Amino acid sequence: MLKRVLVAGGAGFLGSHLCDRLVAGGHDVICLDNFFTSQKSNIAHLLDHNNFELIRHDVTEPITLEVDEIFNLACPAAPGHYQYNPIKTTKTSILGAIHMLGIAKRVGARILHASTSEVYGDPTEHPQTESYRGNVNPIGPRACYDEGKRAAETLMFDYHRQNKVDIKVVRIFNTYGPRMHPYDGRVVSNFIRQALAGETISLYGDGSQTRSFCYVSDLVDGLLAMMGGPDDFTGPMNLGNPDEFTIRELAEHVVRISGSASAIEQTRGLPEDDPLQRQPDISLAKSTLGWSPKVALAEGIEQTIDFFRSIDMSQYRAPTPNY
Ligand code: NAD
Ligand code: UDP
Repeated sequence: MLKRVLVAGGAGFLGSHLCDRLVAGGHDVICLDNFFTSQKSNIAHLLDHNNFELIRHDVTEPITLEVDEIFNLACPAAPGHYQYNPIKTTKTSILGAIHMLGIAKRVGARILHASTSEVYGDPTEHPQTESYRGNVNPIGPRACYDEGKRAAETLMFDYHRQNKVDIKVVRIFNTYGPRMHPYDGRVVSNFIRQALAGETISLYGDGSQTRSFCYVSDLVDGLLAMMGGPDDFTGPMNLGNPDEFTIRELAEHVVRISGSASAIEQTRGLPEDDPLQRQPDISLAKSTLGWSPKVALAEGIEQTIDFFRSIDMSQYRAPTPNY
């Protein structure tokens, strides 16, 4: 059935791929974004579709809309982006969730919230299952994001219990692919940019910390499966690729696949509160939605390198001050 779908944060990396899929499916799509960490080029190709509409709006302010489904993705996601103005990050998570939940409550829309593996902090349980309650430093530099996302999950479940709002909560693990912002400071974008420029690949710490990288098309499949999933299934549910790599291994993959001559070196210590390990347990997504990722790291990195080769990086700016 065709639906009216609101994608908050729809011009971002994940949001723009989600909009692509929804528009191609014939749905009536409203993309809402303040372009804090994204640029119009991500969705420019959608502007002449009559089932796509763009609204420039900041989710920390209320908005009145009538839709059937809401994807709440609006939030800076890269550590450099969310630490740029940490108070704004917390406001975006919490006020943004309240405003999107307000729409869902008023018009009876289903709302999917993009939470994060960061709710697990620097995990002492490995791999992370949804029942793990996390190890988050509430006063560190990552707390604006981690605690903001945790509070947003609380709001989702309280609106569900108190107001019967139809919620779906997913915890997304590191996802990469075309349309990542080349200067977002995330590890995949940094390494590819450095490899293509022949610069040293910057390991933070000795590179033995791990992450599990999911390709964007798999992640979008997971978001759509969750939104269309069983009525009584709220989550929280992990979405990610369980293939775990050290950051040094990632650097080696990027150098090999891009054919770069870049050296791989430790350029600084590990950032404060940087999680040492991260790997999703996706048993719940498999059993409930039949979802699991398909794209291997080497294949996804190749696609992402192709994207970075195709763009003019001088057209990308760092995030705007937004106090
Ligand atoms: P992104 O920065 O590319 O996208 C976020 C979008 O939200 C951007 O277009 C940005 O301009 C917009 N935005 C930020 N603040 C806003 C505000 N106040 N009002 C309106 N729009 C605002 O990041 P992404 O990787 O696409 O992440 C999308 C969502 O998924 C985020 O909520 C993020 O926390 C979550 N997530 C992503 C990952 C990942 O690895 N990519 C992992 C875990 C969770
Ligand atoms: N990292 C790195 N070099 C970089 C950027 C990041 O070694 O140039 C490391 C970072 O310290 C972390 C991991 O790569 O251990 C993933 O960082 P990212 O910022 O992509 O995301 P996170 O999972 O920490 O939110």
